[in-house]
Amino acid sequence: MVVSLEKNVPHEVVIIGGGFGGLYTAKTLKKANVNVTLIDKRNFHLFQPLLYQVATGTLSPADISSPLRAIFKKSKNTHVFLGEVNDIDPETQEVILRDRTIPYDTLVVATGANHFYYGHDNWRPLAPGLKTVEDAVEMRRRIFSAFEAAEKETDPEKRRAWLTFVIVGGGPTGVELAGAIAELAHKTLKEDFRNIDTSETKILLLQGGEYILPHMASQLSEVGKVSLQKLGVVVNTKTRVTNIENDIVTFKQGEEVEEIASKTILWAAGVKGSPMGQVLANRTGVECDRSGRVIVEPDLTIKGYKNIFVIGDLANFSYQDAKPLPGVAPVAKQQGEYVAKLIKKRLQGQILPQFRYNDVGSLAMIGKNLAVVDLSFIKLQGFLAWIFWLIVHIYFLIEFDTKLVVVFQWAWNYITRNRRSRLITGQEALEEAKIVNNSTEATKIANPPTQPTSHSKLQSYTADIEAATS
Ligand SMILES: Cc1cc2nc3c(=O)[nH]c(=O)nc-3n(C[C@H](O)[C@H](O)[C@H](O)COP(=O)(O)OP(=O)(O)OC[C@H]3O[C@@H](n4cnc5c(N)ncnc54)[C@H](O)[C@@H]3O)c2cc1C
Repeated sequence: MVVSLEKNVPHEVVIIGGGFGGLYTAKTLKKANVNVTLIDKRNFHLFQPLLYQVATGTLSPADISSPLRAIFKKSKNTHVFLGEVNDIDPETQEVILRDRTIPYDTLVVATGANHFYYGHDNWRPLAPGLKTVEDAVEMRRRIFSAFEAAEKETDPEKRRAWLTFVIVGGGPTGVELAGAIAELAHKTLKEDFRNIDTSETKILLLQGGEYILPHMASQLSEVGKVSLQKLGVVVNTKTRVTNIENDIVTFKQGEEVEEIASKTILWAAGVKGSPMGQVLANRTGVECDRSGRVIVEPDLTIKGYKNIFVIGDLANFSYQDAKPLPGVAPVAKQQGEYVAKLIKKRLQGQILPQFRYNDVGSLAMIGKNLAVVDLSFIKLQGFLAWIFWLIVHIYFLIEFDTKLVVVFQWAWNYITRNRRSRLITGQEALEEAKIVNNSTEATKIANPPTQPTSHSKLQSYTADIEAATS
């Protein structure tokens, strides 16, 4: 293992992953006398905390994504490289992509985490999670398609299943999704449909632990729960999902087993370190925890390799409070900044004290005028917390790019309660439309409606004719 300290030889820093960890490493190195290669399989940085707003039609994907080349266009020492790293050779000091290898002196691995289904991978297509832009667009398709299908459905039981949304996991993502779907159903969409009353929508939030938002003070978790209930969400804590099959979710609360029919099941429960963790384990012998996170040293390097750092969601850093730091953006950001500073110090022959996370607190949005904020010095709830949430997110977004468009979008949504991005898109959406139209046409031919018995049936038939003939 070589750590190049020679003067006039550019030190090669390779960063894998342009999420929060990798991005802040590269940003903090921008004026350093090093060459930085930032590799990501996507050409943009994604602001994951706002993915749920894409999934529920408030924002569109571009609003929360920033092209990496644009972010680094003024950083002359930074090369952005689009590609997926498959392997690492720590002996030759190279990262291995499909068609090339890239040498490094110092390597920073910041490849994040993926969904985890606790050994039930067959649930993955039935209950999609939220991690990428594609996930958010797929969730959006499922959510808005469910209302469309309910509008067309004449069988009350099936219609109920279309209007039942089950969210598994009561952390911030689950809570934010549940709150946003409740607002959609009870407020935004209320006047948009003719055959269904969207306020009859049932939204169920299932949480394994005793509290939702478990990382927050328990009184804020309780506030979160009550606020969701006021929005019409049924919150079941101490509840474990035991099966998902044929549009039925089976869950256990104590000894009681229940089943609910739902056409839209969303996963916000488990995460696991990205596959790069296993690659590192195989190549260096470093240990991973049960969630696939790499156990790092106090300076975020891995055992035996002083020039390999692992940061962000992929790292298990357990030197503060004995438990691993949470997988949140501020941890990844601060770790990225720390590693960059340490690299600069090392090149001057100096060191830094071990990494220490400065916990700034946590926050979650529940709905319009409703949020909870847990800071070390103050706890906020309701409108004040909501304003605080907005300011923090606007600050973060503007730091990246001119995302003022998001601010205008929020302001517009606030005034009008509208969600302009509720598009049902993708090939699957087109296929679905075809299937629905064809089957509707077939049904009409087989059973021509002679005497619609209700106003609602008449509307349904009219809508079907429009759909079948358009
Ligand atoms: C839906 C959702 C909501 C969230 N809400 C919040 C919140 O409200 N507050 C908060 O603080 N945190 C939140 N988080 C967590 C936060 O987003 C993460 O903690 C943070 O993004 C971790 O940063 P990271 O750099 O470790 O990984 P990521 O940001 O996930 O970035 C990893 C990057 O690595 C790239 N990559 C992965 N594998 C490879 C490979 N083999 N080759 C090349 N590139 C690769 C990926 O494309 C990605 O760009 C949320 C996360 C999600 C999914």
